This record gives sequence, C-alpha cells and structure tokens, in this order.
Amino acid sequence: MTATIDSSTPLRDALFKYWGYDSFRPLQAEAMQAVVEHRDSVVVLPTGGGKSICFQAPAVTMPGLALVVSPLISLMKDQVDALKECGIPAACVNSSQPASERQRIATAIRRGELKLLYVAPERLCTDKMLDFLKDVNVSFIAIDEAHCISAWGHDFRPEYRMLRQLRERFPNVGVHAYTATATQQVRQDIVEQLGLKSAELLIGSFDRSNLVYRVQRRADVLKQVRSVVDAYPGESGIIYCISRREVDEMADSLQRAGYKTRPYHAGLSDVDRHKHQDEFLNDDVQIVVATVAFGMGIDKSNVRYVIHTGAPKSLEHYQQETGRAGRDGLEASCWLLWTAGNFVTWRKMLGDLPDDAFRQADNSLRSMERFCNGVVCRHKVLVEHFGQTYEKENCGACDVCLEQLDQVADPLVLGQKILSCVVRVKENFGAEYVAQVLTGSQEARILDNGHDKLTTWGLLKDEKKNHVRDWIEQLASQGYLQRVGEYNVLQVTATGRELLRGEATPLLLKAAVKKTTPSRATRTEAASWEGVDTRLFEVLRQLRRQIATEHNVPPFIVFGDTTLRDLARQRPTTLAGFRLIHGVGDKKTAEYGAAFLEAIHQHAGTSGTADNSVPAPAVRSAGPLERTEAVSMSVARQRAFDLFKEGKSLEDVAVAVDRAVSTVSQYLVEFINQTQLSEPFPWIDAETLARVREARKQLPDDKLRPLFDALGGTVPFNAIRFALASLQFEPPAS
Ligand code: ADP
Ligand code: ZN
Repeated sequence: MTATIDSSTPLRDALFKYWGYDSFRPLQAEAMQAVVEHRDSVVVLPTGGGKSICFQAPAVTMPGLALVVSPLISLMKDQVDALKECGIPAACVNSSQPASERQRIATAIRRGELKLLYVAPERLCTDKMLDFLKDVNVSFIAIDEAHCISAWGHDFRPEYRMLRQLRERFPNVGVHAYTATATQQVRQDIVEQLGLKSAELLIGSFDRSNLVYRVQRRADVLKQVRSVVDAYPGESGIIYCISRREVDEMADSLQRAGYKTRPYHAGLSDVDRHKHQDEFLNDDVQIVVATVAFGMGIDKSNVRYVIHTGAPKSLEHYQQETGRAGRDGLEASCWLLWTAGNFVTWRKMLGDLPDDAFRQADNSLRSMERFCNGVVCRHKVLVEHFGQTYEKENCGACDVCLEQLDQVADPLVLGQKILSCVVRVKENFGAEYVAQVLTGSQEARILDNGHDKLTTWGLLKDEKKNHVRDWIEQLASQGYLQRVGEYNVLQVTATGRELLRGEATPLLLKAAVKKTTPSRATRTEAASWEGVDTRLFEVLRQLRRQIATEHNVPPFIVFGDTTLRDLARQRPTTLAGFRLIHGVGDKKTAEYGAAFLEAIHQHAGTSGTADNSVPAPAVRSAGPLERTEAVSMSVARQRAFDLFKEGKSLEDVAVAVDRAVSTVSQYLVEFINQTQLSEPFPWIDAETLARVREARKQLPDDKLRPLFDALGGTVPFNAIRFALASLQFEPPAS
C-alpha cells in the first residue's frame, strides 16, 4: 500500500487533463496503480470517496477497451454522460437501445475508438457478447457495486453471479471490484465469487468527514424540517420518512408552505417516480420527500442535506441514506429527528420474521437506538460500527463535538441515583418501571411491590418521567446498564458498578430541548464559502442549468458545486485562468469557458464590483498574463461586433478574432441585443426565424430545451438563441 505516483505519470496528467483535478484522494493512486499493473483488486471506499475515477483514469491511459459492469441503466448513463462531458469516449449497451445504436457502438469498438464500455452483467455474460469481445483488446474489467455479487450484502443481484466466468474467459485481463460495502464477509465473497488472484485489498476510511451529523428528538417536525430547509435556499436536499403516508403528508405540508417539493415512494406510478427523480436530478425541484425506496442509482453530487424524520431501522441504512449527501466532498448536513415511537413501529413490523432474522434485525434496531440516545461523537460511533477505529478527539462535525448538547450539572450523582434505583428494585424491572419509582409514582403495582418505601422512590420527583427515561437510555448506550431477558429488565454492568463507586462519570444531557437552531455554519462550511461571491454563484448556477438543459444531462454533470464555488471565488477572466479552476478539464474549457467567462464578466459589470475583465488591481487571481488576455478579450468582442456589422459569417468571425465559434455566438447574441436587430440575417434565415416565432407561441415560456424539442430537434440551439434575441425587437404583429 505504499504505491505512490510521482507527479509526471500519465495517470496524474489524465486526472488534470480530463477532470481538472490536481491530486488524488486517499487510495486512488494505489487503486489505479493496481489496474495499470494488471493486479486484481478489491477497492472499498465510502460513497463519494471517488471510486469511479479509480478505473476511469487507467482506462484512458491504457491501450484497449475497459469493460465496466454496473447494475443499473441510470447509473451507467450518468457515468457515460459525465465521461463524454470530459471528452472521454465511452458508451453503454443496454436493452433499451435500438439495434442501430448498438451497431454503431460495436463498430466504434472494432475501430478501437472507445475507452470504456458500460454493460449490465446479464448482457455481458451472453455468448454473443463474449464472442464479440474475443477479438477486442480488453484492457481490464471493472465491477462496480461489487457487493451485489454477495448474498450477505444488502443488495444481492443473482445476475452478478454470472460474472464468475469472466476470469476463465479473460485469463490475462485484470479484474477489479469496487464497492462501498465494508463487511469482511462481503469482501471475502467478492474475492471468491469472482475468482480473483491474490487480489490487492484497498480499504478506505469509512468516515465521511464532510458530513455534519445532528440527532434530535422529533417535536414539531414540520417546523424542524423547515428550519433546516431554510438554511439551504435553492439547494438540493432529501427528506426521508418511514412510511408512504408520512411522505405524502410532509410533501403536502411543504408544498403548501411554498416549497417546491416532490414525493417519492413505491406507491406512486413508475412514470411519476421517474418524473420526480428527474426533476430533482435536473435541479428543477430542490426537495424530495421519500421512503427508503429513493436513492439507489442517485449519484447527484450536490445534495446539501439529508433529513430523517424518523429513525431508520439500522445504522447501515442510516449510513447509506446520509451517504447521499455531499458526494462532491463539500460539507453537507444530516439531521436525524426521532422518537421512541419509531422503534415501536419497526418492532411491530419485525413480528413475523423467523427467529434468526428477528434477532439480527432487533440487534440492528438496538444499535440505531443507542446511536439516537448516544452522546458520543457521531462520526466515532459510525466508524466503529463499521469495524474501524476513529482517532480524532473532536470531529468538529457533529452535534456532540460542536457542543450543541448541554450536559447536566452533575452527571455522576444523577447516574448514581438512577443506578442505585435499579439495584434497589433487585434488577428485576424495565426502564419504564424504574423511571416511575424514581419520579415517585403511586401506581398500584409500585405500591403492591412496596417500592414506594425504597430510599430511591421519588429521588427524582422534580424531573419529568420522560426525561428520566432518556437518561436511562443514555446510561444503557454508554454501557452502564444492560437489558436482559424477554422483559428487558435493567441490570447494572461492571462499568455501572464503577460508576456507583464514583470511578467513572457518564455523559448525561440536560432534559431541556437541545439547541435547535440549525445553523449551516461549521468551521469547514465557513471555509468552503470563504471568498465566494454568493450572488455570482447563483448566476453561475443558472448558467449551469441552462447548459445542462441544452446538453440534456443533469447540471451536476456539467460542473459540480465545488467548481462553481471556485469560479465564484476566483472569478477568472481568461480561459487560461478558467482552466485552472478545480474540476475544469480541457474539453470543458473549450466548450463552456466562454459562456462562464462572459457571465462572470457581466456580473462584475452589474454588481458594481471590480470588473475583472479589465486590468484592475482588485482581481485576486489575475497575473500579468491574465490581464493582457483580459484586455484582448474585450478587443476581440469589439472586433467581432465590427465584423457582424459587415454581415460576416460566424465561422469567418471566429477565425478573424481567434475565438471558438461558441464564444463568437455569444458575442452575436450581445450584438443583436445591443443593436436591437430584428432581422438576424445572414446568421439564420427567415424561415428559421418564422419557425421559432411559431413554436414559441405553443409554449408557456422561452425555455430553450422545450423549444428545441418542439422544433423536432432540427434547429440548433444557437440558432434558437439568435432568433429569440431578435424576436424581442420585432414590431408587434398588426
Ligand atoms: P463514489 O463512486 O465512490 O461514490 P464518485 O466516483 O462518484 O464516488 O466520486 C465522487 C465525487 O468526487 C465526484 O464528483 C468525482 O468527480 C469527485 N472526485 C473523485 N476523485 C477526485 C479527486 N482526485 N479530486 C477531486 N475530486 C474528485
Ligand atoms: Zn463528533
């Protein structure tokens, strides 16, 4: 695991050229090294850890075609779209494609034009496909979501078992498995099922350090949810509820309160579910309220918060669902709002399970319960639950470490009072009963047992019984008490006896409601927004959406939030500066650079902040090179305007001013606006103008994509833009 990649390797170059990243995330270098050296590997990294690049970058640098096995069409499609956006030739084959499309892909493969081919396991393992691949130079095989091969995993897919034959069919090709599921059993299974040979095992840390976990009693849930949502205006979030009914109610309430929200659960039609999911992915809707049914195959990178309005049934579920937040590595919030009733609900559902399964499910529930009641760092508990150790003293990213939990004044004495009572009732009663005795209840069964005569009876009579129950849970979750037998009677453990002797002090929280105001601000969060012009960020976000619509991909595939923030921080004024922004590679510079520079330029003009496209000392990142280029950009625009006046074609102007056609198109829109040109000839013809004029009458607004579709895809986006610009200046029809 000492493999390091020095700065000159082709892998690092590829990372920068195609993705615009300048460093490897933990274990990525090692994982890529295994691929290029043809050593089988199993790579376990948490969600958002950056698994895909571990096989995508080597696929680019190695000769031949990499095969990527993936379980869902939506996942394949997103990855292929993202690769293409970065300028990497990739494709996926699936049953929903017409034969002609598959033919086209086959031809491209034969010509050696593709670097990656995504395919579902059942399709890859057909004789036809395997025969076809016999004559293809396969660089390696990557198995994504590899835990699907294991019956021990949470997502077993029998068709993954067919992958066993790959080892024999491709004896000299490396096979690499990628998953976020960590258990030893699953890992072992992957190695055996795939027949991997002395596979390199690379296991990353399971800590998601950019997630801020907060756990809170559920009270006025709508109010609690709204206060989180309000802290993230315009940003994406997921709200998980236990039941469909709760989903519908929550979605309704939010919708009525003016939030654009969509429900998602198994009770909706396929069509609706797809629609709601797409609206979320495309940033048309910010909030999805969902059951656990939502999330598989969602790799939207900019989900900024996940709220649970009830406790999930295991920490595995919790980890997975919260894992959908902050995949881009930027901070994101996870709120868990729970009640004791959640566990009653879950246990009722467990009722019919066979013994073994019941025990396992019940154990999972108990871990979840301890997590809810716990007062130990949330990151630590989660990481340790998944079998790793957590070193940090203070994570700085959970309610416990951020000290949003208030401790009682004297936890030792309070703990001793409670434990003594457990001893006094002879370790024969459950939590509810003990709490009743402590608060001085005169219920018949207590009087019958003579427990009103105990010294501990009424010892906490000034406290509410529910609060005492909470403390009992907290003591249990810290191991001072344990529950035993069918009736869950409380017993004092060995550690509990230490507490009674005053040798250990528990953490007990004040009964008063914890500080509830959800502030976004944590240290990391403040840092990641530092220097960001938030209004410009908004402008760029709109531009990203517009571009995504044109390219028919989700916005996060165009650029991640990290990139937009960096742009709104650095405000580059030249393509060279743009290229250096995190997450910007060669292709995206060529394709989107002009549009983004233009937006930044215009924002500087309208916002009254220093205009970065003219040489001004206020520009943070502008070196001497940038400034001269900046001047030449304005010169190019002016020159282009002059040429437009002469009626020169876009291509001619592009050559003359040494700019991409896309940049010059942007200039033309400005030119039309500035000169109020109602007849945009010769750049489009009269017929096209007329068609756009007609088409927009049928539509509620001037959105490009719908117009493009209404025109049957026959008018290019740029032409539609020119037409729309000109139509503003057309005299009203008489
Ligand atoms: P996983 O599949 O492990 O959940 P992804 O492969 O989707 O994670 O990566 C998560 C995000 O991190 C993506 O937006 C990806 O582009 C980004 N990423 C991956 N590697 C790096 C890196 N070395 N530097 C910066 N960002 C990266
Ligand atoms: Zn913590």
